[in-house]
Amino acid sequence: MNQRTAPNLLSVVVPCYNEEAVIEATHARLTEVLGRLGVRCEVIYADDGSRDRTADILDRIRRSDPRVRVVTLARNFGHQAAASAGLEHARGDAVVLIDADLQDPPEVIPGMLERWRAGVDVVYGQRTSREGESFFKLLTARVFYRLLTGIAERPVPVDTGDFRLMDRSVVDCLVAMPEQDRFLRGMVAWIGFRQEPLAYARAARLAGETKYPFHKMLRLAVDAFISLSRAPVRLLWWLCGGTLAAASLAAASAGLLALAGRDSHTAAVVAAVLGVGGLNLVGLTIVAEYAARIYRQVRGRPLWITRSVHGFPEAATTAADRPRRAA
Ligand code: UDP
Ligand code: MG
Repeated sequence: MNQRTAPNLLSVVVPCYNEEAVIEATHARLTEVLGRLGVRCEVIYADDGSRDRTADILDRIRRSDPRVRVVTLARNFGHQAAASAGLEHARGDAVVLIDADLQDPPEVIPGMLERWRAGVDVVYGQRTSREGESFFKLLTARVFYRLLTGIAERPVPVDTGDFRLMDRSVVDCLVAMPEQDRFLRGMVAWIGFRQEPLAYARAARLAGETKYPFHKMLRLAVDAFISLSRAPVRLLWWLCGGTLAAASLAAASAGLLALAGRDSHTAAVVAAVLGVGGLNLVGLTIVAEYAARIYRQVRGRPLWITRSVHGFPEAATTAADRPRRAA
């Protein structure tokens, strides 16, 4: 792996929504850690249309600290959108994405930067434990990550959130991906480059309440499943096969019963119902298959991402190649 020197600039992106209860403490702890790094830093707070005093507090923090920048969204667009907005404004060679509620301890950042210097492009926090979360949240998170890993075309590492450090080349790719339903950790997993976990203990939220109520969690989960995998269409194909096989079995038994001179009426009706249902399902699945392909096409992800090129007479040999876009 290519060793790196210190970054010219380290960006830290913090999406926040109604975080008046924690934001000052977060900034204090963040700057304490960043101060010890001895690296030029910028902290970008992406205010996701907060309706409490978050905007005022951020304004005050920005006036007192020249490293602070604030991006304010016009309304609440959701965590993934706010994070994307912050990433778009980040200028660092390395960019950290971190929650505002100190559940992701800033003290992990130096370790992430060390791995980045060793040549790792994405260092993602992997939770070894989670404090202060409800049983329901722990259970749903566990099921969600296992299921996702099981069916995703590009596996998303289990027990990771959005807390991570990314190299500039990865952030450029991420910002250039135009898709609407953004599931950032899946997108980062898809991009590639060298990715490594870094274990950390997830703390309890410092103050305030979770901004991820059940319906937002569900939405994120649906975004993840739909954007990551063809699993729903594959499931439909299996259902087609199953229904048509059952219809054939019913038809065969109706035939045998008729040959044996027994009442085959019920079996024939079952065969007919299953057969018609199965054929309907085939039609639907073909439409779904087209829809999935159209979705993939309009999503407009690059066909591939180049890490570097070598040996061409005048070509650059850096890793910062912009993603190639499909025609
Ligand atoms: N957040 C956001 N917009 C939202 C919801 C959440 O920017 O609509 C931010 C929030 O301020 C926090 C991060 O996303 O920095 C994670 O949210 P939270 O801690 O409430 O989620 P949890 O940790 O409970 O899953
Ligand atoms: Mg949280």
